[in-house]
Order: sequence, then structure tokens, then C-alpha cells
Amino acid sequence: MSVFELTATDGPARAGVLHTAHGNVPTPVFMPVGTKATVKSVDPAELRALGASIVLGNTYHLHFRPGEDLIAELGGLHKFMAWDGPILTDSGGFQVFSLRDTLIASDDDGVTFRSVYDGSAERFTPELAAHIQADLGSDIAMCLDICPPAGVPRNELEIAVRRTTLWAARQRDLPRGPGQLRFAITQGGLDTELRRRSSEELVPLDFDGYAIGGLSVGELRAPMFEATSHAASFLPPEKPRYFMGIGDPEGVIEVIARGVDMFDCVLPTRTARTGSALTWEGRLNLRNARFARDPRPLDDTCGCPACTTFSRAYIRHLVNQEEILGLRLLSLHNLRFLIDLVREARQAIERKAFESWRNDALSRLTRQPVEH
Ligand SMILES: [Zn+2]
Repeated sequence: MSVFELTATDGPARAGVLHTAHGNVPTPVFMPVGTKATVKSVDPAELRALGASIVLGNTYHLHFRPGEDLIAELGGLHKFMAWDGPILTDSGGFQVFSLRDTLIASDDDGVTFRSVYDGSAERFTPELAAHIQADLGSDIAMCLDICPPAGVPRNELEIAVRRTTLWAARQRDLPRGPGQLRFAITQGGLDTELRRRSSEELVPLDFDGYAIGGLSVGELRAPMFEATSHAASFLPPEKPRYFMGIGDPEGVIEVIARGVDMFDCVLPTRTARTGSALTWEGRLNLRNARFARDPRPLDDTCGCPACTTFSRAYIRHLVNQEEILGLRLLSLHNLRFLIDLVREARQAIERKAFESWRNDALSRLTRQPVEH
């Protein structure tokens, strides 16, 4: 059985099924981020009930705390966090290269940096990234890559592309966990020639899937989406495509429109911690006084535990009093909102009505909220 089946397309937008050792994932799919082996404040049974089909774990953080050896000893990451569905682990490259002040040196062999936990000098190589992810036993392991921030000089992007290929070629043949798939990450920022080069170097290495990396790192949105289309055009249609780090409703719709199958972001839970809800009226900041006496649910089309049980007024009260339940309810709602949005997108692709669904969804999302 192939790893990925494309079941419908509508223009560049795709619907499919990704097969993993812990189950099937209908795509397009939003992957909630469980950085430290937990999607903040949400337990695995709740994730299931929200409709999550795959979660993301973080190699960098789990390597330092509690360590992949400990997790392996306790039966691997699925057992450790009590999530029996598919898990994707990143390679740690994004954390190493995005925490620029902790970076010490990078060369063709690997990268040296200071751990955010205790400041000790540490080194990541493709060999270590493969080893950690094999020990964690994730279903999808990512190759170690170099992800420069937006706006770096072209020669820096060029080095990132070259080393990312070099490292992927080394990581490809290293031991993996049982049934573990391995995805490579394309780089090149907004540079059209480098994006093409990165894909042309990585695609012949025949990975199970390909990520579009190095975007959503501080650049403007229009060129980011343009680079997404460009990057996707060089990827093989029969392999899954993963855009790393997008989770706002509009952004998700735009990358699906450009042929992306998978994406992740901390946005739903991070937004919840700032007291905001994603809704079909746009983003609601529950701290706003206009919700003080609002008896309506966060979103009247949503079936999440927050919307079926509680009012905006009550959730606003919890948020203002910094009650834990407020943050939990907003996290549950925001995750459900994105998961439902992506399911609707998938259904629209299957009906060959994606373009009209997209236009309608974007106009609803960007409509100004009605004042009450
Ligand atoms: Zn809800």
C-alpha cells in the first residue's frame, strides 16, 4: 500500500489519505502541536473528541526534557503521552535555528547551540535527529534542516539549501522506528531559484513526503503564498506535502488552495492563552467589555464543549479572573474550529466546489464583527 492516496483534486487543492503505522489521516489535515508531549491543557481523549487525527511532538524539547531514552524505556512517545493515533515529530532544526541567540556554529556536519534549558553547548546532527526520533517512535520523522529567518542574505539561504540536502541524504538511510515514515524539508525562503534547487535535490532521494520549510518565518503573506505555490509545483503529486507552521484560518485556507496537505501551528492554543477565540466572525478577544453580558456561545455553528455549554460572558469572566478553565475552553474551541474548517475544505474539494467555498469562507472570516 502506498503511503499516500490522492482521493480528489480541485485545481491545485487536494484531498487524500495518509497511511501511518498508527492509523489513517484524511488530508488536508491540521496537526495540533504537542511540543512537550502534550497539546497544552488538552488531554488525548479530548483531542480525539475534537476530531484530531494526528498530533505533533517536538524533538528538540523532548530530547532535553525528559530525554528520548526515558521515553523509549516507558514504551515510546505514543504510550508515554497516551495518544494511540499518528504522531509526527519535527527534527529540532526549527528550534535550533529560530532561537538565533543560542546558535553557536553550523557546519556541513551539524549545528552547535546552547540548550534553552541550561545553556550547555549541544550539537545536533542528522544522525542524532534520526536517533532521537527512532527512540521516540513517531510515525513520521522529519529530516534535520536549516531554517533561516526572513530577510537573510541570499548566500545564507544558499548555504541552508545546500546543507539541508547534505543532511537529508545522510539521514535518509539511518535506522528508523518501526513503520516510521521519513519526510525531507525543502528550503530556499522566497528565492524562486533556490526553492526549485532545493526540491530538485531532495525529490530524487525519494522520501515518503516533503515539507515546505523556511516560510512563515516573518516574511509578508503575499510573497509567502506565492513561494508556497512555487515550492509545491516542484513536489511529486503522489507524495504528501506539509507546510510547516501555519494555523490561522485564512492562512490554512490559502495553503490548501495551493496544494498543501498537512500543516501545524501552536496558534489555536497560543491564541487561547491570550484570551482569544477563532470564530466565523473573525477573532474575538474575550477581554473586550462588549462580551460582559453576551449570552451567546463563542461561535453558534461550533459543537465544541465550550460552545455547547457556556456563554461568552462566562468565558470572559474566567479569562479575566485567569481561571484555568477559561484557557482550556478556549483551547478546545480553537482546535475544534480549525479542525472543522479543514474538514469543510476537504469536503469542498471532494465536491469540486473548493473555489466558491474558499471565497465564501474568506469573506465570512474577514467580515467586521457586529457590535452589540
Ligand atoms: Zn466552540
